Amino acid sequence: MINKSTLFTLAVTLFIGSAIAQPVKYIDKANMDTTVRAGDNFYQYANGTWIRNNPVPASRTRWGSFDMLREESSKRLRSMLDDAVTNRSRDRKTQVIGDFYASGMDTFAIERKGCLPIKPLLEEINNIKNIQGILDKTATLRTTGAASPMFGMFIGPDRKNVLKYIPSISFGGTTMPDRDYYIKNDPRSAGIRDAYKIYLNKLFTLSGEDAATASASANAVLNIETAFAKAQYSRVEMRDPYKTYNKFSVNDLMRLAPVFDWASLLGKMKVSGADSVLLNNPGLLKTADSLLGAVQLTDWKSYLKWNVIKTAAPYLSSDFVNADFAFTQVQTGQKQITPRWQRMSALIDMRLGDFIGELYVEKYFKPEAKARMLELVNNLQATFAERIKRLDWMTEPTKQRALEKLNAFAKKIAYPDKWKTYEGLKVDRNDFVGNLRNVSEWSYNYNVYKMGKPVDRTEMGMTPPTINASYSSTNNDITFPAGILQYPFFDFGADDAVNYGGIGAVIGHEMTHGFDDQGRQADAVGNLNDWWAKEDGDHFKLKAEEVVKQYNAFTVLDTVHVNGKLTLGENLADLGGLNIAYEAFTKTQQFKENKLIDGLTPTQRFFLSWAQVWRNNVLPENAAQLIVTDPHSPGVHRGNGPVVNIDAWYDAFNVKPGDKMYKAPAERTKIW
Ligand SMILES: [Zn+2]
Repeated sequence: MINKSTLFTLAVTLFIGSAIAQPVKYIDKANMDTTVRAGDNFYQYANGTWIRNNPVPASRTRWGSFDMLREESSKRLRSMLDDAVTNRSRDRKTQVIGDFYASGMDTFAIERKGCLPIKPLLEEINNIKNIQGILDKTATLRTTGAASPMFGMFIGPDRKNVLKYIPSISFGGTTMPDRDYYIKNDPRSAGIRDAYKIYLNKLFTLSGEDAATASASANAVLNIETAFAKAQYSRVEMRDPYKTYNKFSVNDLMRLAPVFDWASLLGKMKVSGADSVLLNNPGLLKTADSLLGAVQLTDWKSYLKWNVIKTAAPYLSSDFVNADFAFTQVQTGQKQITPRWQRMSALIDMRLGDFIGELYVEKYFKPEAKARMLELVNNLQATFAERIKRLDWMTEPTKQRALEKLNAFAKKIAYPDKWKTYEGLKVDRNDFVGNLRNVSEWSYNYNVYKMGKPVDRTEMGMTPPTINASYSSTNNDITFPAGILQYPFFDFGADDAVNYGGIGAVIGHEMTHGFDDQGRQADAVGNLNDWWAKEDGDHFKLKAEEVVKQYNAFTVLDTVHVNGKLTLGENLADLGGLNIAYEAFTKTQQFKENKLIDGLTPTQRFFLSWAQVWRNNVLPENAAQLIVTDPHSPGVHRGNGPVVNIDAWYDAFNVKPGDKMYKAPAERTKIW
């Protein structure tokens, strides 16, 4: 999910927790463009004036409802962090985040150290004598929080037996955001690849290599990463939960990739008690195995050094930071680097989210919002159940299992039931990179020590200040952090139409993820397990194919098309979510009374609220990258895509045959 809004001075007054009165119209007609017919381009009709008046700020890559809230949230975090730095009577929470922040803001010390914080590690890598040494280093780099070369390793629920933890090893091995950039030769991919070469050269040089060595190192890294990229699945393939579920006993894994001595490697990665592992892509492991035999030791050392350097680069002296940003710029078009305080507050939210989150909730979150939110979630869930019972394309036994799954949703609202205490974590005001490593090491240990313990299903996958929401199929839970419980998604003062068209549709969206093309493959407990009668599954696939076609037809930047298969899960969730939210809204007093507010009917306000959540401007470079990497459709298509399949929208805005968005009733896709 993603967006931003009007003048932020206005938005400040709209947040929960703000003591300022709210003079704002929740649906502000001044943001609309009524010269456009709603039936021709609803998103433009609802947001056209706002879009014209709100260009992307220089230090951003997009600007919309989500981004505006993020901007505000980062300012709140900044003021909390500034307090934590100077607070004299500090508890441990305050000490840890205050000292971490102080170390990250101490540009004098950071500049003076230059590349010193990574020098000893680079030396250790230079001294590696053989391939076994390379493999040992891939283990210790991650256990010490310095880097995660070649593959990711994570202890999580076994997707076919979710009450048991298992190590998941996901091979990737690349740096650029998609394999396309290594392989394709269109001007954009080639341009990003050229910028990547410059980036590689620059960082190796800054780390102390002379020009010829840096150039050789850069080539070595690019060659290894290109070989990995060629073996990677496409993003569409990666959405297939069976294709990426490959369980191997440790012994079989050793046969598949003999160069890796997995029994010993797992031990070196501190993983104990694992007799089997999950592998995302066995072909990629085989590629890694043969590359370890074929590629020169010097090149592997360059690859490991690269992983150390690139992981640290955004946190070293300004020459590293600027080189890192220059590469980001080519990819996203961002004009100015994000201010340091904002990078640091985002970092602390990401790495110490439970400490800063607990303070955030105390200061900015109204407990009543949690109760109100739970009520909304329950309303949506009840409505979704009624809709499942009425489905004309699903047989009774499958409906029963769908309802069982729906009723089993765990609801995580605003903040977690229990907070992490970061026990044993040491933070030093004078050592920023050391702090980062300590936090990474702490998180790594926290994760690997889960092996053998019962699965903790209470953990929340997002920090409280996060402006987003999520569904987890292994936990069968829906999560709505405190951050998203704000206008334009949700506000105590807003009419139901605004809240149901905003957070209501978001709730419906996350619930529908449990029944999208991926989510439907897991059962009520969260196990990958086909609970569908064959004919029902076939019906679902036919309907989903209509949505793939609908979104494939959408263009971005006039030439690039939305990838209907990559975005299918999100588009299904938008369609289901908006339908469920609308039906739940029809049960409210406001809908029944049908009074105009500011000349708008309740149903008009509902759909306008949905559209305003998605309003945004995006830099063209970023838009082109997101089409390749983001499973969400661009805002305009999220605003417009679902409404054309909902009859009530046609009535509310008098959409008729001949209007550009018009679909005949028989062609409207109805799924959930
Ligand atoms: Zn989603």
